[in-house]
Amino acid sequence: MECPRCNSHHIRKNGKQRGKQNYICADCGRQFIEYHNHKGYSDEIKRECLEMYVNGSGFRAIERVKKVHHTTVIYWVK
Ligand SMILES: [Zn+2]
Repeated sequence: MECPRCNSHHIRKNGKQRGKQNYICADCGRQFIEYHNHKGYSDEIKRECLEMYVNGSGFRAIERVKKVHHTTVIYWVK
């Protein structure tokens, strides 16, 4: 688990919301629900990578900027 905003691993449990585990980041205070994604990236990162792709960025460029491996981005695009 890591924070979707600052990628901190200082995550604390913060009760449950609609049956799902809620977490809070000890560093930036961001609250979020447990999530599961390909290789652990957040929906936010995934969306930003796909937006870059739609706007004409190459996979290598996305990898450089977003620090997401290009094979992961290719997987998302498919
Ligand atoms: Zn955080």
